Amino acid sequence: QAKSAGRDTLQFFDPSMQKAVSARVEMEKDMRMALERHEFDLFFQPQVQHDKVIGAEALLRWQHPIKGFIPPGVFVPAAEESGLILPLGEWVLYAACRQLARWAQDPALAHLTMSVNVSPRQFYQPDFVDKVQQALQVTGATPDLLELELTEGMLLTDVEDTIRKMVQLKAIGVIFSLDDFGTGYSSLSYLKRLPLDKLKIDQSFVREVETSVNDATIACSIIALGNSLGLQVIAEGVETEAQRAFLAANGCSYWQGFFFSRPQPAAKFEAWTRAYGASHEADTVLSN
Ligand code: C2E
Ligand code: MG
Ligand code: MG
Ligand code: MG
Repeated sequence: QAKSAGRDTLQFFDPSMQKAVSARVEMEKDMRMALERHEFDLFFQPQVQHDKVIGAEALLRWQHPIKGFIPPGVFVPAAEESGLILPLGEWVLYAACRQLARWAQDPALAHLTMSVNVSPRQFYQPDFVDKVQQALQVTGATPDLLELELTEGMLLTDVEDTIRKMVQLKAIGVIFSLDDFGTGYSSLSYLKRLPLDKLKIDQSFVREVETSVNDATIACSIIALGNSLGLQVIAEGVETEAQRAFLAANGCSYWQGFFFSRPQPAAKFEAWTRAYGASHEADTVLSN
């Protein structure tokens, strides 16, 4: 019976869909192996306030031994769909916390926050709060320097449960930011209820912020909204000095983007951060 149902189901697939399905199945198999073979890695991108590096966003990287670099925009959705995001997300959390604990030993890096992207399925786990607490305990990372990036859509499924989890983690010091803000459908009343610390302006509004009146209006509205709710507002995807200056002039002084640095492996990120600090200290000395 199952067999005939399978055959009936298959009739609805056209060849291109079948190809897409088998590609998905193959990617799942590859990701499972990649986890075992430690092919995943974290890169770090600086978050800057005026002339200071204040934190890093951890971004997952996958170097496939044959297919080469596969972007997270491709494999994260597949991992989310298959459930593999649970072990993968846990690996990310531990790797990020271990890095945070290492930075704590270095005076030049000890103040940095670490932002970790959390996927919906990961956040919906009933023991998500315990899992985060465990990662902090095992690695010895400071909770006040761990920031979890949530996205709008995932917060609306069960608002009470979301708030409960956030409150429990905030009680131990964990920071919350809302990623890709402006692209989802969060209602402003939820935004007021959720115990958030930061809003991240999505890069789609930053790209043409000085040339598109609409994008400028949206970006400025998000800045005003965030500021009036007492949230820190950080702009993603800052690629030029002109974008940075426009944002600064309009009340947003936290920035992340290629203008400062691309995401890099830990050692390069650390070297970049030291050099940035040193050159800006020199600026201050010169201007005094
Ligand atoms: P996101 O969390 O919004 O991350 C920001 C993305 O923008 C990153 O892409 C980053 O490399 C890119 N970016 C940063 N600055 C610039 C810029 O100036 N210009 C442009 N064009 N892009 C910039 P990436 O690393 O490819 O990641 C894409 C998405 O994949 C992330 O978007 C996030 O949603 C997801 N992702 C990445 N790592 C993880 C992870 O560890 N866990 C989960 N659940 N999702 C992840
Ligand atoms: Mg993010
Ligand atoms: Mg984002
Ligand atoms: Mg994004």
